Amino acid sequence: MQIYWSRLIDIVTESPEVKTFVFECPEGYTWEEGSHIHLAFEGFNAGEKPDRSLIRHMSISTLMDEKKIGITTRIRKEPSKFKQILNSMEIGSEAAIFKTHTNVPLKRDGKNIYMLSSGVGLATFRPLALDYLNNSENVTKIHSLNIDSTRDYLFTDIFQTIQEKNLTAHFTDSRAEYYREAEKLTADKDALFYVVGSDEFLKQNIEVLLRNGIPNHQIVLDKHESQREKIFAG
Ligand SMILES: Cc1cc2nc3c(=O)[nH]c(=O)nc-3n(C[C@H](O)[C@H](O)[C@H](O)COP(=O)(O)OP(=O)(O)OC[C@H]3O[C@@H](n4cnc5c(N)ncnc54)[C@H](O)[C@@H]3O)c2cc1C
Repeated sequence: MQIYWSRLIDIVTESPEVKTFVFECPEGYTWEEGSHIHLAFEGFNAGEKPDRSLIRHMSISTLMDEKKIGITTRIRKEPSKFKQILNSMEIGSEAAIFKTHTNVPLKRDGKNIYMLSSGVGLATFRPLALDYLNNSENVTKIHSLNIDSTRDYLFTDIFQTIQEKNLTAHFTDSRAEYYREAEKLTADKDALFYVVGSDEFLKQNIEVLLRNGIPNHQIVLDKHESQREKIFAG
């Protein structure tokens, strides 16, 4: 396993609680849109076993073309040890990046794509939307539906309605509205439905999709196959 130690080069405040931590792209490091990494801090591999409190999965919210690795996350009032360390990182200090993998590449199957997310889950979709805006080949349209109770909606420069590009976006702060809209989207029986959020959010969305006749293979989750099966099992 190759571990890349990468320098923090910028911190972007996306909303009062959400920040993007921007890391330098190490020489030779590549990733696909929708990838996630293990992000870890010094000492994570010092002991016999990796120190889990210093490691988290994070999606890369940037595209390779941007030549930097963005990690977007919410820092709540009482953050975990991991988030405390992340939030106090100084520009120029380093974090470890490893085990890069994507479960949610932009599928160019000639279908409509619906991106369902909650809160900062939208960060996973940012590079997919950018990739699509750069080249829409074999993707007929993208629609994003995001729920965020804080109302500080993210990435509204990208997730907005751009009719000529067949990209549309809907933000809501209400669960009732979110699920009403999600149900409506299931009228499109041949589309792909990408879902990103907490496991509870995934389960509820899967229930809505399956109940409305969207087959399992048209539902795309940011999960490895074995974890995906567990989520589908409820
Ligand atoms: C493929 C993948 C991609 C991901 N991408 C991102 C991303 O781009 N951005 C992002 O922010 N996150 C992402 N995550 C989730 C991320 O790995 C973290 O789990 C998440 O950010 C929470 O981390 P944390 O350190 O704040 O909370 P953790 O310490 O990991 O706790 C997890 C949850 O449990 C709750 N919790 C913790 N301790 C307690 C307790 N004692 N009692 C009750 N509740 C508790 C916390 O509130 C939190 O919601 C991703 C996960 C996966 C699997």
